[in-house]
Amino acid sequence: MVGYSKHNQHYTDESLKVLIVEDEENIIQFLLPALERAGYEVETASDGESGFEKAKSAKFDLVLLDITLPKMEGTEVLKNLRDAGVNTPAIMLTGRTDTDDKLKSFEYGCDDYLTKPYRIEELKARIKAVIGRASERGSTPIALSELEMDPLRHRVTIKGENVHLTVREYNILEILLKNPGDAVEKDKIIQYAWEPDHAVAQNTLEVHINSLRKKIKKDDFLLLETVRGVGYLIRKGTLPGQE
Ligand code: CA
Repeated sequence: MVGYSKHNQHYTDESLKVLIVEDEENIIQFLLPALERAGYEVETASDGESGFEKAKSAKFDLVLLDITLPKMEGTEVLKNLRDAGVNTPAIMLTGRTDTDDKLKSFEYGCDDYLTKPYRIEELKARIKAVIGRASERGSTPIALSELEMDPLRHRVTIKGENVHLTVREYNILEILLKNPGDAVEKDKIIQYAWEPDHAVAQNTLEVHINSLRKKIKKDDFLLLETVRGVGYLIRKGTLPGQE
């Protein structure tokens, strides 16, 4: 099934537009009405090639992308989109549990992923959060010390070398980098890195922070500090005696 849904005539131009790229008809039959009821204007594509062609128009606010697709894999669709300079946010819907795939799709520039089966409420919360983050996310690379973040490809490098981050680690790093030298409150980080109103235990945040700390260690001057009772901050440090 490809094309405009016949149910969307009543939507105005202000409706957020979502493209579903999915080859399984029953999944489309489930997702399309659910997202329309949530107020989105929905188009669909049933293979990777037509999905890429549609998404290339950059008129969508979000692309929901299956990984296993005929004609072009979902990860390839995303890579081609980013190569074409299209930064429409994307959520990968994957039936695979392979972590490598998730990491790869993230580095191709997806904004989040959900493993099938998922609850529709969960998907709607993710869509809202991803569109919200995307509206704040520019396309200009951010740099601090020797670390660089490319928001278009979601690529993070230190001294030119790739740092492999998960979606949450990336989001946490991003909100800290946008406020270099300032303590960012734990709640604010959680709201940004997960979904608004998502219940995330503060020790879960700590686990992600610790893992992020290890990954950015290659940069000797980059400090991810705990600000007791407040949250976390990132800053460029100096060697003793240089301050
Ligand atoms: Ca599929």
